[in-house]
Order: sequence, then C-alpha cells, then structure tokens
Amino acid sequence: MAANDRQRVTILGATGSIGVSTLDVIARHPDRYRVAALTAHRNSDRLEQQCLAFHPEYAVLGDAQAAAELQQRLRDEGLKTEVLAGPTALVSVAADAGSDTVVAAIVGAAGLAPTLAAVKAGKRILLANKESLVMAGSLFMHAVQRHGATLLPLDSEHNAVFQCLPPQYSAERPFATGVRRVVLTASGGPFRETPADDLAAVTPAQACAHPNWSMGRKISVDSATLMNKGLELIEACWLFGLPGDRIDVVVHPQSIVHSLVEYVDGSMLAQLGHPDMRTPIAHALAYPERIDSGVAGLDLVTGGALQFEQPDTLRFPCLALAYQAHAAGGDACISLNAANEVAVEAFLAGRLRFTDIPHLISDVLERLGVSPVVDLDDVVSRDRRARRAAQDRVAVR
Ligand code: NAD
Ligand code: MG
Repeated sequence: MAANDRQRVTILGATGSIGVSTLDVIARHPDRYRVAALTAHRNSDRLEQQCLAFHPEYAVLGDAQAAAELQQRLRDEGLKTEVLAGPTALVSVAADAGSDTVVAAIVGAAGLAPTLAAVKAGKRILLANKESLVMAGSLFMHAVQRHGATLLPLDSEHNAVFQCLPPQYSAERPFATGVRRVVLTASGGPFRETPADDLAAVTPAQACAHPNWSMGRKISVDSATLMNKGLELIEACWLFGLPGDRIDVVVHPQSIVHSLVEYVDGSMLAQLGHPDMRTPIAHALAYPERIDSGVAGLDLVTGGALQFEQPDTLRFPCLALAYQAHAAGGDACISLNAANEVAVEAFLAGRLRFTDIPHLISDVLERLGVSPVVDLDDVVSRDRRARRAAQDRVAVR
C-alpha cells in the first residue's frame, strides 16, 4: 500500500487500555496506518509520549491549561501537532475530515457525543465505548444508517459474534441467515467463587484485579459486578438487531471462547483466542483483511480444559437488571447506565460497598420509571436526572 493510501486513524481515549493496545497494533503497520488525532482526559504525560511517537495532527486534553502546557512542550520538541481542549474539541476532531477511522475508546457517557459526531461524519467507527450504544442505541443505529457510517465492534464478545456471522448478515433481518441465538461469554470476574457473605467487604483493588483481562478501572468493576455483561447484552441487541431473549450469557472462566453464534441447523460457531484486545482491534482495523496483531495463536494441547457455567444472578444481580432495563425500553437503559457510573465511581472512592452497587441501580430504576426518548436532548437530560438521583442515594448511604 502506498504511503498516501494509509488509513488515517483517530483514537478517542488514546491513553486508556484500549487506546494503548490500538497504538500497539498500529505501530506494527506503519505502511497501513497513520494517526490523525489522539485524545485523553487528564494523562498529559502519556499523551505527550504518544504524540512524540505517532505525530498526530491534533491532540486533545480535557483541561485548557494542561492543553496549553502540552502545546508548549510539543513545540519545544519540534512537533507540529495542534493541541486542543475540552468536549467541543473532542467532537470536532471526531468529525474532522482528516481521518477515515475513529476508534471510540473513551470510557462512559462522556464518549457519546464525540462517537455520535464521528457517526454523523460517516466515518468507519471501531466501537469500544459500549456505554454510547446502551444510552442511545436507537438514535445511534439510525445515525449509522442515515450517514453511511461503518460500525465495527471492538468489544471482544461482539467482535467474536461479528466474526461468526455470515457476511450477508443484516441487523434489519437478523433471522434471514438462519441465526437462532447468540451466546455471550463472561469470565465471571474476580469474585466468581466468592461467597455471597464476603462480597460486601471486597475492596476496589480486589475488584480491579481481573483474572484474565487487563482493563481500565470502570470496566474492571463492571466485570466484577457482571454489569459489564449486562451492558454488553444491550450493546449486542443494538449491533445485531436481536431481541434480548435471543442473547444468552454463559460464564466461561478461561476467557478463551470469546462468544458464539448458534444457527437453526444446530451448528454453533465460536471465535477463540488469547484474552488480548489486540486481536479484535487488529481484526476491526484491517477488516475485511487480516493483519498481525502481536498475539500468538492458542496452544490447544497444553491450554487445559474449558468450562462453562450459568451466571449467578443472586450474587450478581446487575445482569438481571440490564435484561429488565432493556426489556422496559424508553429511557430505562439511560438510567441503568448513569446509576451504574455513579455507583462504580462511589465504590472506587470508598463511599459505597460493592454489594450496594446493584441496590442503588435498582432503586434509581424504580424511582424514575420509564418514559420514551425522542432525541439526543432527551438522552442528555435523562442521563443528568438519573445521575442526580443516584448521587442522592450515595449521599444517604
Ligand atoms: P480506560 O479508563 O483505560 O481509558 C479511558 C480513556 O478515556 C482514557 O484515554 C481517558 O483519558 C479517556 N477519558 C476518560 N474520561 C473521559 C472524559 N470525561 N472525557 C474524555 N475522555 C475521557 O478505559 P478502557 O478500559 O480503555 O475502556 C474504554 C472503553 O472501552 C470503555 O467503554 C470500556 O467499556 C470499553 N472496553 C474496554 C475493554 C478493555 O479491555 N479495556 C474491552 C472492551 C470494551
Ligand atoms: Mg467485552
């Protein structure tokens, strides 16, 4: 591929776990990819190192003062990168004509506006920010259609399902190709075997010590509560146009089978690999081609046994809450996501017990009820309302 044919990639959330893995894959293929823009919230040191290594046209930081300081340092290093600041800059680099592909790897609701901006600019979107689909699935998928964007899942389960679906699969006619159901696998998290009575005392450090995956703190806690699988269930419904009752979750502690698709003839197709996000990232970057990700294949002979078990929704009620919110429709998933973000933050700050996370979410869902969502303003206002309701509950505990 000639140098000027290189895919121009913007990474929203470049300094996080997904961002760093994406740059690792990109660095292996300088002939195919060029970095257009990199963004971070606070980590200006890491963003500086990334700018020095990849020479993007733009870099974005959350804070204006930090952005001005970074701009000066990059100038001193002789770089032409322009450093911008704040949520408006995020939206403008996401939609900028200087990129073909946008990797949506910001964590939480903060990812919604820039990811949607990239969708509306008709980009190829590599989606890690599952929260944006959970909050605004219907609007998001309509915008993808309307603006001719290409949506490729990075989340390992959804990327696995995507790989197991036939090329002619369409979310508008999900059963036309003989698909019967999708099975998402869950590792079960660090507390899979922890007795119910011990869960109230678990610490943020224990919750973030995931047995198989190395990830950001928020998604690590989500994996420990199984809310990550709940958010992924909702994400899968939108991505693949399936009703919730066609998506099952099975706990698979080894995280080798990343998910499966069952067909009407009884065939089940699975995607297997080491638990390393560089595999789905490389798949989505190069799709429909294949490139080296830096990840080796599995050694099936020495790999050991693969187990599968039913998720325990009594110890981990968040998964059931997500099924319920998705079935309720309207703004229920916005409330679910917002209450979860507030609860996880409070848990990480030592202000809420692990076992209070699902209680708080279910309180907020009950209190706010369900109303329809028409546009993005509705999404933003319901998100704010649910955050306030959740914060009030954290305060009284
Ligand atoms: P992380 O915490 O490691 O990184 C988050 C990134 O977002 C950082 O670059 C941070 O600077 C940026 N950010 C945080 N808050 C921001 C804000 N308010 N405004 C702008 N930028 C902000 O998170 P992660 O583990 O890389 O996860 C990112 C997303 O990918 C999440 O939605 C997560 O659910 C999803 N995901 C992650 C993994 C994984 O293995 N880490 C796997 C599947 C999906
Ligand atoms: Mg996942």
